[in-house]
Amino acid sequence: MTTRFGVAMSTDIARRLTADLTRDDGQEECCFVLWRPSTGAQRTTALIVDTVPPLEGERIVHGTVDFTSDYFRRASDLAAEVGCGVGLIHSHPGGRGWQTLNRVDHAAEENFAAQAMALTGRPLLGMVFSGADQGHSARIWQRRARRHYAPMHAESVRVVGDQFTVTFNPRLAPVPRAVDSQVRTVSAWGPSVQDTLARLKVGVVGTGSVGMIVVEALARTGVGHLTLLDFDAVEIVNLDRLLHATQRDARRGRAKVDLAAQAARRAATHPAFRVTALEASVVEPAGFAAAADCDVLVSCVDRPWPRHVLNLLAYAHLIPVVDGGVSVATHSGSMRGAEWRGHVAAPGRACLECLGQYDAAHVATERDGMLDNPSYITGLPDDHVLRRKENVFVFSLAAASAQMNQFITMVAAPAGIADTGAHLHHLTTGTTDRREEGCTPQCPYGGTSPDEEPGGSLHLLGDSAPTLVGSHTAAERARAARRTLRARLRHLRP
Ligand SMILES: [Zn+2]
Ligand SMILES: [Zn+2]
Repeated sequence: MTTRFGVAMSTDIARRLTADLTRDDGQEECCFVLWRPSTGAQRTTALIVDTVPPLEGERIVHGTVDFTSDYFRRASDLAAEVGCGVGLIHSHPGGRGWQTLNRVDHAAEENFAAQAMALTGRPLLGMVFSGADQGHSARIWQRRARRHYAPMHAESVRVVGDQFTVTFNPRLAPVPRAVDSQVRTVSAWGPSVQDTLARLKVGVVGTGSVGMIVVEALARTGVGHLTLLDFDAVEIVNLDRLLHATQRDARRGRAKVDLAAQAARRAATHPAFRVTALEASVVEPAGFAAAADCDVLVSCVDRPWPRHVLNLLAYAHLIPVVDGGVSVATHSGSMRGAEWRGHVAAPGRACLECLGQYDAAHVATERDGMLDNPSYITGLPDDHVLRRKENVFVFSLAAASAQMNQFITMVAAPAGIADTGAHLHHLTTGTTDRREEGCTPQCPYGGTSPDEEPGGSLHLLGDSAPTLVGSHTAAERARAARRTLRARLRHLRP
């Protein structure tokens, strides 16, 4: 049972709503929407999947807006047909930012809450569009007792795609006090970007060589809440690349995520910084649920299965994934070149599969445990993508930097530009390739539907998307090994 609520929509839907809800005569307007749930460990998000604009005569504009019961019925029937809930959004043309629910709107929405539940099997979503800044506010009408419905307010409404904007509910997500340690950062992009960063919940999936640097950057920059996922332990062979790691950490088999959480607490500049560390993979149910609670995910993994799951989170659950990676080319023991990447997977942008970041055919191989089977790996050709492990600290630094630049571009949108395409940097030529087109039309994530609408077959499916999670033998073994080691160390202590 989740206790937090949020709303997310693609930039595509947001643009349609802005057009539908903005009137030349400056009066209020309304529109019904269809939504689907995306459930995390603590937060349920209503994903807006379509708009149902009014037909001629279905609403009455007289300063404030009213609609006919036929319009409500038509939208609810449409929602029920496709397994969605129904939502009512109306505009406050002069409104700016989060709109608190006033008495008139409260009464109007409450009136339809029971019917919406009866017709669609899902609670009514109520929203307000603020005309002055194109912000959104939202609540969901939950049944408290027989014929009694009460609003549960959203903590934020996120718009995700080639832009990234969030309207926060100031009561549930207050702006933190300004701190001296962030003066230089705030002078770069201003208090409004900083207030967004401070209230975002960012998940870092994988706290290895790239992820550890990403965590450091996010904590220092002032992101308020980090969720860290990794099941691996620090090993001696990591010490040449893993920021903060010591010989002692390696000897004790310390969980990388524990080291990352401690480093984040030390580095954080947010006055009420919170970090949640999970010794889990994103492909495990608990890891997936924690990731589904985040507003943005940073992918610092290189295996196909977690990347596959992250791709699903980006397009089916609308959580943008800032991904990247390093690849070093060697020949007979000498380096021939190196590449690193940074890109964001989100609707309207190319997905991880279309970018060649993983091969869907390798996911089953990994699920079967083959990638942790030494005899399978040594049987692969030397240059096989699943076998290559070459990396050095400076390339991890470069990849982390490429990913953080993508993250900052997305959130701060310098000069109004949030999407500069997927970047591939080449060491030997000193050049950067940029891919600006999105997915291939056939792609199930970011392709196009049969009627040429944006979004493939998995687009915005939320909880209706196929589950790609399962038990992960290597993660279970790693946790068991640490438990044994901890017990032994306890035993040895005098
Ligand atoms: Zn209103
Ligand atoms: Zn794709």
